[in-house]
Amino acid sequence: MTKPIAKLLMAASFLALISCSQADKATKSDASPDKVTKTAYNLSEDIKASPTQWLTTGLDYAETRYSQLSTINTDTVKDLSLAWSYDLDTNRGQEATPLFVNGILYTTSAWSKVQAFNPKTGELLWQYDPEVPGEWGIRGCCDAVNRGAAYWDGKIYLATFDGRLIAIDAANGKPVWSKDTIIDRDKYYTITGAPRIVNGNVIIGNGGGEFGVRGYITAYDAKSGAQNWRFYTVPGDPSKPAENKIHETTKDTWTGEYWKVGGGGTVWDSMAFDPELNLLYIGVGNGSPWNPDVRSPEGGDNLFLSSIVALNPDTGEYVWHFQTTPGDQWDFTATQHMILADLEIDGAERKVLMQAPKNGFFYVLDRITGEFISGEKFANVNWATGLDPKTGRPDIVPEAYYNKTGKPFLGAPGPMGAHSWHPMSFNKETGLVYFSAQDLEFPYISDPDIAAGSFEIKEKTVNLGIDLAAISLPDNQAIRTTVRRSLKGRLVAWDPVKQEEVWRVDHGGPWNGGTLSTRGNLVFQGNRNQEFAAYHAQTGEKLWSSDAQTGIVAAPMTFEMDGEQYVAIVAGWGGVLPLLLGELSHTDDGRVPNRSRVLVYKLGGTAQLSAREDFKPEIDPPLQFANAQSIDNGRVTYSRYCSGCHGDTAVAGGPIPDLRATYALHDKDDWEEIVINGALSERGMVSFKDVLTSENVEDIRAYVIDRARKAPKPN
Ligand code: CA
Repeated sequence: MTKPIAKLLMAASFLALISCSQADKATKSDASPDKVTKTAYNLSEDIKASPTQWLTTGLDYAETRYSQLSTINTDTVKDLSLAWSYDLDTNRGQEATPLFVNGILYTTSAWSKVQAFNPKTGELLWQYDPEVPGEWGIRGCCDAVNRGAAYWDGKIYLATFDGRLIAIDAANGKPVWSKDTIIDRDKYYTITGAPRIVNGNVIIGNGGGEFGVRGYITAYDAKSGAQNWRFYTVPGDPSKPAENKIHETTKDTWTGEYWKVGGGGTVWDSMAFDPELNLLYIGVGNGSPWNPDVRSPEGGDNLFLSSIVALNPDTGEYVWHFQTTPGDQWDFTATQHMILADLEIDGAERKVLMQAPKNGFFYVLDRITGEFISGEKFANVNWATGLDPKTGRPDIVPEAYYNKTGKPFLGAPGPMGAHSWHPMSFNKETGLVYFSAQDLEFPYISDPDIAAGSFEIKEKTVNLGIDLAAISLPDNQAIRTTVRRSLKGRLVAWDPVKQEEVWRVDHGGPWNGGTLSTRGNLVFQGNRNQEFAAYHAQTGEKLWSSDAQTGIVAAPMTFEMDGEQYVAIVAGWGGVLPLLLGELSHTDDGRVPNRSRVLVYKLGGTAQLSAREDFKPEIDPPLQFANAQSIDNGRVTYSRYCSGCHGDTAVAGGPIPDLRATYALHDKDDWEEIVINGALSERGMVSFKDVLTSENVEDIRAYVIDRARKAPKPN
């Protein structure tokens, strides 16, 4: 996959070029000479000089999320308690890591809003709402989440769900400039990731890999917003000149008319930067559609799907890549968090990049060359038997090619991944990487329309080339029981040198939070069981926990102000897993509640969370009005258009309403008013008038009534 020597030479020559262009650019892009320093140019020196702050989403450019602060440690953590909390004005999934800069705590929340707080009191200093249209909600696969902002030189940089990049005055929350980052607003592009600031550029990608988009990442001048470069992750129409030179060759890894269906490869979350090598690393997502029979029917590796790509951050030029899942057809994105570290491996110090992507292998790569060093399974994996020890290429089992076999493949992991976006952390002292690992099987079944030659890209829904209706069969108890039994989730401490698990904490199910490590020898993590906890970094012993009154998926962060250390987390259950899995995402207590809040803790904090109201939708369905055929038609249509948000088999798991409990179920006109006429479009429930008939919509109502009437009666 990579040619180490050639790559090394290439990297070296890039480095030589970069040091010149860097100096040139710094002089040109900054008018005041006293600011033209390396410090002003990127955040490296600032990060080193201020361990009490949290200046970029991953804490540092290596994205370690390992804080030097240690006042809160294994001895004192028992006295950790709430300093303040702030109720956010949304109840959608919260995935952001806050920043702490110059005495202010900044966070983002669902629908791409930004809040600035007095970090000691929780007083809201300002809030900025970019007013993302609710209608844009349907364009995302995975909830209207946002994973955080960036800071540089007095500005907060926010990327919005509807694709804008906005520079905001950090002092008062007023927008300074705004750029549309989307190349085609008819396509379903969204942004949920945090921008990174590298060498005076704001760098941002986007999502949409479930909706037939073409992935790319763009760098904008942090001062002016002017576009500096754009790197497409997959080739475009081969009859036109390649936008990036590398795609003159990558196009040979694709077949058929791939450019017509987008191809995928979105850079929806992770990046890392090595200032010494001057390399920017980006994680690239899955193929679109998932099923390669639609995307690249004669096969091929489909570069750069599911790859880690190293770029020159000043020009966007390609330097090297490593593909984790060649020809990906399982939604095995390589967009998961990447951490840069220097590790001693076989007696030599290696500059490495570590990633635990969805496909279930923990990778250690040489980050100078992209050379594969090692990779091992960290979860239940059945799609590949292992990795080639030289190249890292997976040995994929024939059954995994569900498109070729024509048979369902019960894959482990499934599209939710053995690890998803939830940030990891790396403690240099213990040498361990801490992350949220999970097991979850998924039945991959080819969409029968492909074999029948009638497959079409549909509007207002995902386009995967997968038979979602077959998967959703509520009476297909065999599949459901198997999938339910496969669901596991845990906090894992992983030794990246030995490539083995050192300890684990079982959380009873998947979709637990990101992690924070500290020099206090602690690992912090929130979980699906509505708990925020701290563990001993070497043993995994739980040393402290607190009732968060909500499931937590985001990663915590820490900072120090006036000599006091604080730990902050944005709590609020949501994201793709509960949305899509519905009932399968519930805990023994039922649906996990979302109470979206910023929670900030310190030693001896005296705040209390207000009492929780209970959260159980009342299911009170009308009598069934339709026949069995109508109900079954409704099941198929629901699975295609509704299940992605309202939950598999019409049982909600995330923060979006459970349709079995909606008032509109009782009345044809009320139901049509919403589904056909878009009465709730501002809240994200758009009109489906252009894709569904009145008959379709009544069939869906019949199906949901059927599901409601079969719901277990409350005790
Ligand atoms: Ca995906």
